[in-house]
Amino acid sequence: AAWRATVLTLFPDMFPGPLGASLAGRALTGGLWALETRDIRASATDRHRSVDDTPAGGGPGMVLRADILAAAIDAAAVAPDRPRLLMSPRGRPLTQARVLELAAGPGPLIVCGRFEGIDQRVIEARALEEVSIGDYVLSGGEIAAMALIDACVRLLPGVMGKQASGTEESFSAGLLEYPQYTRPQEFEGRQIPEVLISGDHAKVAAWRLAQSEALTAARRPDLWAGKADRTKKATDG
Ligand code: SAM
Repeated sequence: AAWRATVLTLFPDMFPGPLGASLAGRALTGGLWALETRDIRASATDRHRSVDDTPAGGGPGMVLRADILAAAIDAAAVAPDRPRLLMSPRGRPLTQARVLELAAGPGPLIVCGRFEGIDQRVIEARALEEVSIGDYVLSGGEIAAMALIDACVRLLPGVMGKQASGTEESFSAGLLEYPQYTRPQEFEGRQIPEVLISGDHAKVAAWRLAQSEALTAARRPDLWAGKADRTKKATDG
C-alpha cells in the first residue's frame, strides 16, 4: 500500500481495533493502506522493561522517558518525508484541512502518549508535531490516533464508494453539513422537506446551502466567523 500509518504505542493489542472493521477494515485487508504497530516497551533497556519515571519537579503520575521513546522512534526508521505526530491534548486541534494533507502524503508516524505525558526533550529532539483531537483528556493516545487514521483512510483513493461523499460533507467548505433524509416519506408524523422531493436540483442545492449556513452560524460561531472573514477578504480583493 502507498499510504501507511506507523503507530508507536504501549498497547499494540489495541490495534487495529475499530480500524479493522467496516470501511477502514475492508480497505486494510484490500491493501489500500497499511498499518504498522510498534511496541514502545520493546525499546526498554532494564530488567523490568520500564518506560516511565516520576516527573522532575514532583507532582502526580509518571512521565514517558525521552531516551526510551527516542529509541522506539529511531527503531521505526520511517522515511524522512513522513510526518511525525504526537497525539496530545496540548497539540494543535486536528482539522479536516490537516486530515486532507495527511491523507495526500505518504502517511504519518504517530506516537501515542500514556500516563501524565512525555518528556519534553524527545518532542523537541525528534521534532514531533503535537496533534489534539479535542479539548478533553483521554487516558492515552491510541483512541486519538485511531480517530486521526480513520479520518485519513476514508479519503484515500478507492476507499469510499463515491468520491463525491468526501467533497460535500461537513467542513469541506468551512460549513457543517445540511440535514439528510431518506425513506420513508413520513416518520412519526414528520415529512421529508418538500423541496427535496421536488426534483428541482437548483432549489435543492440552495436549500442545502441555506441549511448549512444556518447550522454553522448557530452551532459553530468560530467556523462561521472564519467563513465571514474569508468572504470579506475575497470581495475586498
Ligand atoms: N497530562 C497531560 C495533559 O494534561 O496534557 C494529559 C496526558 S493524557 C492522560 C495521556 C495521553 O493521552 C497523552 O499523552 C496523549 O497521547 C493522549 N491524549 C489525551 N487526550 C488527548 C486529546 N484530546 N487529543 C490527543 N491525544 C490525547
